[in-house]
Amino acid sequence: MAPELRNCSICGRLFAYQPGGRTVCSRCRDQEEEKYMVVRRYVRDHPGATVFEVAEATGVDEELILQFLREGRLQSRGFVEVVQCQRCGTYIESGKYCAKCLQELDSQFKQVISTNRPNKPDTQEKRSSRERMHIKD
Ligand SMILES: [Zn+2]
Ligand SMILES: [Zn+2]
Repeated sequence: MAPELRNCSICGRLFAYQPGGRTVCSRCRDQEEEKYMVVRRYVRDHPGATVFEVAEATGVDEELILQFLREGRLQSRGFVEVVQCQRCGTYIESGKYCAKCLQELDSQFKQVISTNRPNKPDTQEKRSSRERMHIKD
């Protein structure tokens, strides 16, 4: 039986499609694999790096890194709850402020009745860029 030919979803070349397999030709798959190894190595050396940081450092598309995450080849920790401190912008796992700011705010609050609220930075930053990753062993 002749293999089914399909167009690669990345480069458009015709290739022999494996039933149940991905619609990517072997050449593109190899390239993707190389990028995966680069990303994997980076995340291993920088546990807790965000998708954005990894993309910046490795030059691999954020979209591809997110695909690795979706495929479960890379794991994301704090998928939902990675947020920035509303006061200083430090990455925190949950809540509104980092521990340091909480402490400072607390002592300020005790000293004076604050009249000016801290400026609320833009919290609508792309959430996907902030997913933290680590490697599963
Ligand atoms: Zn291809
Ligand atoms: Zn803070």
